[in-house]
Amino acid sequence: MKIMSINAGSSSLKFSLFNMDNEEVIASGLFERIGIEQSCYTIKYNGEKLKQEVDLPDHSVAVSILLEKLVELGIIQSLDEINGVGHRIVSGGDRYSESILVTDKVVEDIIELKDYAPLHNPAHVLGINAFREALPEVPMSVVFDTAFHQTMDPVSYLYPVPYSWYEDHKVRKYGAHGTSHRYIALTIADELKRDDLKVISCHLGNGGSITAIKDGKCVDTSMGFTPLAGIMMGTRSGDIDPSIIPFVMEKEGKNAAEVISDLNKKSGFLGISQLSSDSRDIENGIAEGNEKCKLAQDKFVRTVVDYIARYYVLLGGCDVLCFTAGIGENSKGVRAQIVEKLACLGFKLDAQANDVRGEFRKISADDSSSLIYILPTDEELMIARDTLNLINR
Ligand code: ADP
Repeated sequence: MKIMSINAGSSSLKFSLFNMDNEEVIASGLFERIGIEQSCYTIKYNGEKLKQEVDLPDHSVAVSILLEKLVELGIIQSLDEINGVGHRIVSGGDRYSESILVTDKVVEDIIELKDYAPLHNPAHVLGINAFREALPEVPMSVVFDTAFHQTMDPVSYLYPVPYSWYEDHKVRKYGAHGTSHRYIALTIADELKRDDLKVISCHLGNGGSITAIKDGKCVDTSMGFTPLAGIMMGTRSGDIDPSIIPFVMEKEGKNAAEVISDLNKKSGFLGISQLSSDSRDIENGIAEGNEKCKLAQDKFVRTVVDYIARYYVLLGGCDVLCFTAGIGENSKGVRAQIVEKLACLGFKLDAQANDVRGEFRKISADDSSSLIYILPTDEELMIARDTLNLINR
């Protein structure tokens, strides 16, 4: 069985084609600058990488070229080999608590939920429609970033604001990165052969979120109504006092959208360091004695530790602390700094085991109160697995 995992943005389309017999990626790639000049695509397969500039006026053209190339490059013999396509969807609001096969109603819902992901949901529909046009007979699924977090109870998902905001406008916590956190929960339960685990999953990438998981279900998560909430990130502030917004609007003569954009795009690592949103640049800056880089890193670590401690109490302890995504998988320094701050809860690293990048392994010391793991996430595989399961149902 071959399943394609798709992440469509407004001007891009990322794909991975899996052989689900062994869950290996046969080909992957990216179509970029769709609808803009200098559009191009990259396809990786068989250890090779093909990059080409080509006119991509819309998503349908990108999908036709992708399918044509898969056959032309001999990655598949014919389109009949594609048994299913799974699409990543940012917001399923409170309507979807699991992945589902695509129908007209599902597509309508994704459009209707655009208020909750204005940049993403409409773009996902462009991707879905392009594939429905090109492969009308092939079953398709949608996998929502928010779905895993739908098990939160109202105490977790409600904000202490007028209740009518929730009733009238569905103002509540939805969370994000759900597919990644679900992958972590499933993989660690599988590894330890236990379903009754208290897991704190730390997805630390350019965007970042922390999720408290009990018995495989999300209890609480750090992102909120939008991905702007929670821990500090590459360019996002994470939690701040909302009164700052009208204050800065007045001081800088900006409107609300401009200040929110500053909080999304000019804050976090970039905001404090005034240098970069990329944690590698921050680490290099620290090595060169840059004080703002040090401050940025310390603030990041503080916000992560605050959430881990909060979820430790919420879960009544922690069996496994997992680090994933770009920073979580690769930065031994950040992991060490975080765990050091958790020493009062009995967390302890094995420094030698921690000296690794991007590898699934236990990094806690034998006398640590909780197990600590690096666990590389794989949202694309999760999407492909869900699609396969839905087709086989
Ligand atoms: P996204 O949220 O865009 O998917 P990623 O999960 O790719 O983000 O994470 C990007 C972050 O991971 C960047 O801050 C980057 O610096 C960091 N990162 C990637 N590789 C390394 C590394 N080898 N050492 C430290 N940080 C790394």
